[in-house]
Amino acid sequence: MKVFNTLSKTKQEFVPLEENKVKMYVCGPTVYNFIHIGNARPMIVFDTVRRYFEYKGYDVNFVSNFTDVDDKIIKRAIEEGVSSEEISKRYIAECKKDMEGMNIKPATKHPLATEEIDGMIEMIGQLIEKGFAYEKNGTVYFRTRKFGEYGKLSHKNLDDLRSGERSLLVTGEDEKEDALDFVLWKPKKEGEPFWESPWSQGRPGWHIECSVMSKKYLGEQIDIHAGGEDLVFPHHENEIAQSEAANGKEFSKYWMHNAFLNIDNHKMSKSLGNFRTVREISGQYDLQVLRFFMLSAHYRSPLNFSADLMEASKSGLERIVNAADHLKFLTGNAKSETMTEAEKALFGKTGEFVEGFEHAMEDDFNTADAVAAVFELVKYINTNTDEGSSKEYLGKMLDLLKKLTDVLGLIVDRKEEILDSDIEELIRERQEARKAKDFARADAIRDELLEKGIILKDTREGVQWKRA
Ligand code: AMP
Ligand code: ZN
Repeated sequence: MKVFNTLSKTKQEFVPLEENKVKMYVCGPTVYNFIHIGNARPMIVFDTVRRYFEYKGYDVNFVSNFTDVDDKIIKRAIEEGVSSEEISKRYIAECKKDMEGMNIKPATKHPLATEEIDGMIEMIGQLIEKGFAYEKNGTVYFRTRKFGEYGKLSHKNLDDLRSGERSLLVTGEDEKEDALDFVLWKPKKEGEPFWESPWSQGRPGWHIECSVMSKKYLGEQIDIHAGGEDLVFPHHENEIAQSEAANGKEFSKYWMHNAFLNIDNHKMSKSLGNFRTVREISGQYDLQVLRFFMLSAHYRSPLNFSADLMEASKSGLERIVNAADHLKFLTGNAKSETMTEAEKALFGKTGEFVEGFEHAMEDDFNTADAVAAVFELVKYINTNTDEGSSKEYLGKMLDLLKKLTDVLGLIVDRKEEILDSDIEELIRERQEARKAKDFARADAIRDELLEKGIILKDTREGVQWKRA
């Protein structure tokens, strides 16, 4: 299996640290809002990478954090007049709902930065002891120049970085020994959440969080560290410096980065107002369509989000789901049980589609080609099954289709249609629950309906609903 490694800028054969095991860490979102479709790209891509390793029989330990202490979270908390914890808890819960909709498997562990502060204080202490960090007025900085390999991931030349030193200076950090030094621990400002430490009451820097959480849940050395390409520098470069300086070992063997998701050919950003949340998309499409859309491109190619491409993805997915439906329909009406010799021969030929699929995935997870192989299988199924097919043959075809689509995280079973009368009944029940102040039940009903594609809107005239 070949994996493109940002460290070497080449596709390399994947050799795990431990036989049949993969230790993988993916940098997760900062939780101050609903996640946007850009954040969804690494989630979908690396969930698919994980699923392929599992398909190949690897035992995958998959860790992905939530950054739950950050300036943006604090700002949002102040705006709303609530605690930072309330903001992060709320958006972690919302993020998990979106992940479920996109059929992203929960990680083996989703650590929260705020629950790992002791480990961070410990690693910062080790770095100070080894001379890789120093304290100034309650702030601790990493001594970047001391880490000789700094720049090896982003392939930045230290001299270039030095000549651009001024752009790296952050206001209030002029006490640093060197402009390239970055913060490991910073003192609190009025009203901010803080923890006790030997240096000040304060909070950790963002980079140290991942170094510590990765070490705690996966060990000092891991197979794959991943995230969006904007994280290569400085986040991942700094993680390498911290982890390798503290542990004295290579941190991660492979570094994988997804390219960005643009929108209508522009960079997606809040300031441009072209920002779309996953939740908004879920009002228009089943999130499986979003997943299919993301996988229709190679993860290292920029991808443009547009209404046309989403429509194309919707019909692409529909073709696969229709084939599965057709197989189920034929199975229900099949007259014979066991495969004939001719069917055995026909089924034998599906091996070439599996090969095509695996070949694409082994080539640095080329999901675009893997999807093409699934389409070929679908075409083959449609032309080689009919009312005369045996149950066994139809069943094998369906199992194979599901086996491959499951690697891509695509669900081919059509969602159960819900009747209008059942919707009305659930809405009535939700109103009762609200009256009884049982908000958990009321929310659960809203989520259950959302899962079935029903969107509720509370208006002055009462509850209105529509199908997504
Ligand atoms: P953040 O919450 O900004 O730390 O981002 C969480 C993850 O989403 C990181 O891996 C980012 O690299 C990734 N990400 C953010 N925006 C985009 C985008 N437009 N396209 C692809 N990945 C993105
Ligand atoms: Zn990280």
